[in-house]
Amino acid sequence: MIVVMKPGATPDDIQRVIERVQSFGLGVHISTGELRTIVGILGNTSGLERSTFEVMEGVESVVRITRPYKVASREFKPFDTVIEVRGVRIGGPGLVVMAGPCSVESRSQILEAAHAVKEAGAHILRGGAYKPRTSPYSFQGLGVEGLELLAEAREATGLPIVTEVMSPDEVSLVCQYADILQIGARNMQNYRLLQAVGQVQKPVLLKRGLSSTIQELLMSAEYILAGGNYEVILCERGIRTFETYTRNTLDINAIPVLKQLSHLPVIGDPSHGTGKWELVAPVAKACVAAGADGLMIEVHPNPELAWSDGSQSLRPERFAALMQELTALAAAVGRSL
Ligand code: PEP
Ligand code: MN
Repeated sequence: MIVVMKPGATPDDIQRVIERVQSFGLGVHISTGELRTIVGILGNTSGLERSTFEVMEGVESVVRITRPYKVASREFKPFDTVIEVRGVRIGGPGLVVMAGPCSVESRSQILEAAHAVKEAGAHILRGGAYKPRTSPYSFQGLGVEGLELLAEAREATGLPIVTEVMSPDEVSLVCQYADILQIGARNMQNYRLLQAVGQVQKPVLLKRGLSSTIQELLMSAEYILAGGNYEVILCERGIRTFETYTRNTLDINAIPVLKQLSHLPVIGDPSHGTGKWELVAPVAKACVAAGADGLMIEVHPNPELAWSDGSQSLRPERFAALMQELTALAAAVGRSL
């Protein structure tokens, strides 16, 4: 349920509404727009009457959220959520590009990748230290050493870092290094993990599950928001379909749908969405044209030697060329890069 305050509501009016909500043992989330303040009510509101708030001074209307995801919905918060990470704003007019290798492999590899993506104009460095691999015999990531190398790459380039966390008991460790915690597609419905990242004050990049619906993605985001962490970035990274030519089918529809249903920033991942480097540039452009707030792109100094996802990784020169093309495209859709 949300309480929409009148444009002229005073801070005292808003405070009285907040106190009334709290008197029922419920929490509040305040959204401040240009004209209006919206008091979102957190918790189980099924026993609340709308009239309780409708009669209060400064209240314009009271709306019950009909969607199963509440805090994630645009009904709850009509204004876009903008997440700031070390000066980079995600969800605002500027597109945000997160780029780097699939896995952190060595000091020289991550530093080379970091400098290359920074030079090309990327805003955030990606790289996995804990890798969810289909085979237990595949490279599982460098673990803490990988996190330390990422921190060194951040130091060297100034780029904030996003990296995956796979288990609830590793959240506090990964938090010591990462600027954004990534929840991988395979863990999108790992509810204990979602609850654990809901307890920290660190932005979370939540990737859509391999076979998850848009609603399931939003329900997973809701787990994190319900814990009190309001900084969630949604990522469309392709889903399983009957098509096998590409690794996954990037669901371009999901981008405008998520923007419509939710206030959270949405990014596209054409690397995992296609599995083929030749398709990364055209699908990246499609994501931007469809309204994505940014992209996640795998870039490797030497893709043929990559320990994971080499076939979908761009060489630095190709990434730089794509960034140039995206700059022109961004302007055409009223964004900047
Ligand atoms: C990754 O980002 O390297 C990754 C493992 O992605 P996903 O969880 O989308 O497969
Ligand atoms: Mn990968």
